[in-house]
Amino acid sequence: MRILVANDDGYLSEGISALAQALARIAEVNVVAPDRNCSAASHSLTLRMPLRTAVHANGFTSVEGTPTDCVHLAVNGMLGELPDMVVSGINDGPNMGDDVLYSGTVAAAIEGRFLGLPAIAVSMASPQPQHYATAGRVIADLVSHLQEYPIDENSILNVNVPDLPYEAIQGMQGTRLGSRHKSESVIEQRDPRGQPIYWLGPAGPEADAGPGTDFYAVKNGFVSVTPLQIDLTRHDAIADVNKWLGQR
Ligand code: MN
Repeated sequence: MRILVANDDGYLSEGISALAQALARIAEVNVVAPDRNCSAASHSLTLRMPLRTAVHANGFTSVEGTPTDCVHLAVNGMLGELPDMVVSGINDGPNMGDDVLYSGTVAAAIEGRFLGLPAIAVSMASPQPQHYATAGRVIADLVSHLQEYPIDENSILNVNVPDLPYEAIQGMQGTRLGSRHKSESVIEQRDPRGQPIYWLGPAGPEADAGPGTDFYAVKNGFVSVTPLQIDLTRHDAIADVNKWLGQR
């Protein structure tokens, strides 16, 4: 099995090394990742400039581009042979609830799925992760399982791992996305010339975090495995839209 590993934290992140190391025991691994931290890049592509790459001493390839660029480039011609699967992460922090819409980690996995490959996104569910090795073991297990038992072609798996020693993990649970309260306010500061500058505030605290959600599973020591669909259509609302259009 060949696995393409990407992320949004950049090729120097601790998480991508842990992931590559864990998967190298079960597959041939190619790492293609951004040259810098691109967290919250979502699904952006670079279309107005070329993409330069560099191969490093450890074999990792860095790209002067976004997480989605990395997977697109690797799958659509840069790698000699096509991978069998894309695994993105291990992200330095949670990707739960609304986070998945902003996440470059999740976007890289979705790009793999767009290009026809099974894909998993994996994140540490803690702001300052300590136990990347736990997520490495969890993901090696899930990758082997996915290889043997494929899931449907409109889905990726979004995995969040509690920041605990492997022995302390309670198990794995299929979950739905919870949601967060809206983000905190922007933070205004002054630059050295007195001009206003702004920092976007942190993500809001959990709002919908009850049983069945990704937040709840992780809080209780379980690995959260959320199937995400690529088709954003709200199928059950199409009839209502047609009725609404008919009222004009
Ligand atoms: Mn990130």
